[in-house]
Amino acid sequence: MLLLSVDFEDWHQLVRRRLRADNWPEPGPALKRQTDALLSLLDELDVKATFFILGMAARAHPELVQAVVERGHEIGCHGDSHLPVHTQTAAEFAADLKAARQTIERLSGRQPVGYRAPAFSITRESGWAYEVLAEQGFVYDASQHDSPRIRDRAIPARSSPHPLERASNGTLWEFPVAVWQARFGRVPVGGASYWAAMPTELVLRGLRRAGSYPGLYLHPHELDPEPLRVNLPAGSNLGQRVHAEVRAAQRNAARRRAADVLRAIADRFELIPYGEAHAKLSAGADPRP
Ligand SMILES: [Zn+2]
Repeated sequence: MLLLSVDFEDWHQLVRRRLRADNWPEPGPALKRQTDALLSLLDELDVKATFFILGMAARAHPELVQAVVERGHEIGCHGDSHLPVHTQTAAEFAADLKAARQTIERLSGRQPVGYRAPAFSITRESGWAYEVLAEQGFVYDASQHDSPRIRDRAIPARSSPHPLERASNGTLWEFPVAVWQARFGRVPVGGASYWAAMPTELVLRGLRRAGSYPGLYLHPHELDPEPLRVNLPAGSNLGQRVHAEVRAAQRNAARRRAADVLRAIADRFELIPYGEAHAKLSAGADPRP
């Protein structure tokens, strides 16, 4: 059994902010078609996922949050502004989390109880974030990802879901992202951005060996039926335009196979949302395979 999630964010907002484009907070032009494609694919596969919603994307696209709820998916939280947790103080993180919760509750009518940090950014030095999550009513975190690409990452104590001892205010569970501990090294097999570089059979083999309840994550832009283009405002400088082209080319290369690999995974594994697994495990089910 695998846990399926979507980090629900607007690629255009994020890339425009990175390029310091003036129009960055505006709603991106592609999230609707990306979300439509993603929701259709999940319906086709007859699976429900957890959508970790980014507050600023939700405010730009309230109708898409509603569409996700109506299709019966779980609503989780991806923070508000997509700034790395380890660059914030505990107070700043608490304020960002509260802003996200309030936006998500207002737009979805649901209280999120699961959290995924932007870019898996709860590092070894920012473990205080788990206390903040528990204080604000979260019951699980899905941010630990033992990928060599993440600097100073928090290494999960176990590859299967487990309660974090750190949280004092209620029990906060950790649901690590799928990583295959192969003899030749660690292979991150949970993210669609990694699937692009691997034969599908290798992804499937890795997932079979990734422990119990390993987590998968996708982004809406990885399901975009059209090539991604950054729409910069008129008057952007040459550097911004070159960077925009490079970012779009990288993303277009990384996302080509996401839908087909997910179909192959759904063919062989049962996919469930995180909240369903949390309900079973916190009621005492055995987390081992
Ligand atoms: Zn994200």
